[in-house]
Amino acid sequence: MRRIEADSRRSADTHLHAIPLPAAWGIDVYLKDESTHRTGSLKHRLARSLFLFGLVNGWIREGTTVVEASSGSTAVSEAYFARLIGVPFVAVMTRGTSREKIALIESYGGRCHFVDTAGEVYGEAARLAEACGGHYLDQFTYAERATDWRGNNNIAETIFAQLEVERHPVPRWIVVGAGTGGTSTTIGRYVRYRQFATRLAVVDPENSAFYPSWASGQAVDGGASRIEGIGRPRVEPSFNPAIVDRMMRVPDGGSVAAMRDLKARFGFDAGPSTGTNLWGVWQLVAEMLAAGESGSIVTLMCDGGARYANSYADDAWLAENRLDPTEHTATLDEFFGTGRWAG
Ligand SMILES: *Cc1c(COP(=O)(O)O)cnc(C)c1O
Repeated sequence: MRRIEADSRRSADTHLHAIPLPAAWGIDVYLKDESTHRTGSLKHRLARSLFLFGLVNGWIREGTTVVEASSGSTAVSEAYFARLIGVPFVAVMTRGTSREKIALIESYGGRCHFVDTAGEVYGEAARLAEACGGHYLDQFTYAERATDWRGNNNIAETIFAQLEVERHPVPRWIVVGAGTGGTSTTIGRYVRYRQFATRLAVVDPENSAFYPSWASGQAVDGGASRIEGIGRPRVEPSFNPAIVDRMMRVPDGGSVAAMRDLKARFGFDAGPSTGTNLWGVWQLVAEMLAAGESGSIVTLMCDGGARYANSYADDAWLAENRLDPTEHTATLDEFFGTGRWAG
């Protein structure tokens, strides 16, 4: 506990960047930059919470092997915290996980254990932990309860504190994607608890189970997501649909177009799930403009673009994966030129 507390005291909060929009619009958009955590993504917060939860529950003790099922970013952050407190760490991932992420996990002393399909990671992680008397962190189940929704410097509390002296300190919307669903659940609960008028919008990529399940009110299965970090083939236990005010399905090409546009137009180099967030944000801005409303919107920069130099930032990779941002780039150009959303 002391080592994690000391690490957190040595660390600074992440920036809340203001994105400059035309003054005549009267709308402020903010980007909470989670890429600047030591392990490069918003999963740094989750990993810290999951280790603290495991320690206070007596599930992690000296020498406990810690195991996780992860598509990559969570395991990178967890490997960091495992090394910090001196316990062994094993990440169960599919063979397709990017080389960059595997190298990061190994650089923190973590071991990678591969399975063939995404559906196998949960069972294999539980089996491995059981076999060695270790602890399965299980991000998809515990993300929502390991984070203290009342505060304790969770992501919602810090966003509202950073907005306090802005001209629109209570945002109309906070826009996030869902992987575990932990971030949206924490923000939704905090907004209700503190009685803010802010509404929560969740953006979801093609194929994901979250959107159709939210829209129909019953659990519907989806498929594999092409946007790393968000969208799941099943509705994860940490996702709470009841506190989501609006969900928006985002075309994968739109996520890539908005990610690239953010870099070209505003100079922020982000990953694809940040593009998904912005595709939703720009539509909400257009709606506010059409309704003659002013106010603010907050979203997250979930991670940085460097991890995706050989994928989403690479035209050949995009073509191979049949991701075409062209038509969506035109939608964004029209939006920034006119304030209207044609997509
Ligand atoms: C995990 C993740 C998300 C979604 O956050 P959750 O709290 O798990 O829903 C978004 N973007 C990236 C890059 C992620 O790794």
